Amino acid sequence: MNDIENRRKNIPKSIRFEVLKRDKFTCQYCGKAAPDVILHIDHINPVANDGDNDITNLITSCEGCNLGKSDKLLSDDSALKKAKSQMDKLQERREQLEMMMEWQRGLKSLANTTVSELCTYWEDLAPGYQLNDNGKNDIKKWVRTFSIPEITSAMDVAAEQYLVFESDNKVTLESWAAAFSKISGICRVSRQAKTEPDIRELYYIRGILRNRLRYCDDGLALELLRDARFWGVGLDVLRSIALQTRSWTSFKADVDFAIQDTDAWQMAGRSGAE
Ligand SMILES: [Zn+2]
Repeated sequence: MNDIENRRKNIPKSIRFEVLKRDKFTCQYCGKAAPDVILHIDHINPVANDGDNDITNLITSCEGCNLGKSDKLLSDDSALKKAKSQMDKLQERREQLEMMMEWQRGLKSLANTTVSELCTYWEDLAPGYQLNDNGKNDIKKWVRTFSIPEITSAMDVAAEQYLVFESDNKVTLESWAAAFSKISGICRVSRQAKTEPDIRELYYIRGILRNRLRYCDDGLALELLRDARFWGVGLDVLRSIALQTRSWTSFKADVDFAIQDTDAWQMAGRSGAE
């Protein structure tokens, strides 16, 4: 057995499993994943340079990438050595499949726990009823798209806005159903507002344009306003352009001018000219 394989064998199975899970069973050099390739655990700082088996010094690498790095790993020419190495590889593949199954079982049980925690969270907010399988399936779907904080805060908003209490520990069934049906929509809207905090204001400015101008290209107007924000033009500037402009053509020219007036544009222009 050569050096590299020795080192690999010396990494305890539990640490190898942790590294593989962290790297999602995927070669961090080329992106190929098990079970399509056999994965090795590679030392970032080599053992020869005092690299240790700390998880931060270990990385998942497929066989190809690992071989490319360490020349002549499989230079063994005797048939016996080859057979032995093939057996080792089979064993390795089997172990990795087992690890991957365990990982996936872990992910699944984590997902189930998450769903039941969220059910409880909702049932506490909206007391009196329990979620049926359809409700649980809805939550399962949300978990695939949204983070847990996104879902719980949407639940908070839905509860606050739509629930009607008929006693201290019971809400009306009607309001319960209405509130629950709003949760995913609230998640979606608040995510959009987070990635683009100006969006409501930009829609509003475009509304001014639509009211004032005889012609307004809705899609292009929003694009121009976004561009202007990207380059650092203030919302107040855009609002006053919209309030003063006389035509679609002059609106475009005014926004262009405002963009060229920003520091960011001038710096980009300068470096681009060189
Ligand atoms: Zn690779």
